[in-house]
Amino acid sequence: MGDACHHHHHDGPPDAADVRGVLDAVAARLSAGGERMTAARLRVLELLLTAGEPVKAYDLIARFGGEDGPPAKPPTVYRALEFLERQGLAHRIASISAYVACSSADADHAAAFLICDCCGATAEVAASVADGLGAAASKAGYVIERTTIEAHGRCPACV
Ligand SMILES: [Zn+2]
Ligand SMILES: [Zn+2]
Ligand SMILES: [Zn+2]
Repeated sequence: MGDACHHHHHDGPPDAADVRGVLDAVAARLSAGGERMTAARLRVLELLLTAGEPVKAYDLIARFGGEDGPPAKPPTVYRALEFLERQGLAHRIASISAYVACSSADADHAAAFLICDCCGATAEVAASVADGLGAAASKAGYVIERTTIEAHGRCPACV
């Protein structure tokens, strides 16, 4: 991602104050639910929010300590990602093996991503296709724990 294509894009990364606001809200919501936002979990979520695009785990590990800081120990980052995924705060997009901050406040939701194969931009959308999947699964006596739908194509800037 970030290997810029030649198409024009409008969205820059989110600004620091917005990221701070989201982090504070998340920490408050989790502690109300009896969960704890550790420093590592907050840091990983901050990196994802700041990136504003999917990030590979090894980039999170490298960026963890900041400009001059040491990289994180990989298990620290993977455990934080696992937690964030479980809380619906981040998603793993398997087809590009990267993680992205969730843009929905709903903790338990199926995630659907529109992934641009040209610029790498992703957009999370609410997909009712997951409802149909849920119905089919319960008919089959299957319990879905996590759904991620990944669509590949071109974003509006790259069409
Ligand atoms: Zn989501
Ligand atoms: Zn694009
Ligand atoms: Zn493009």
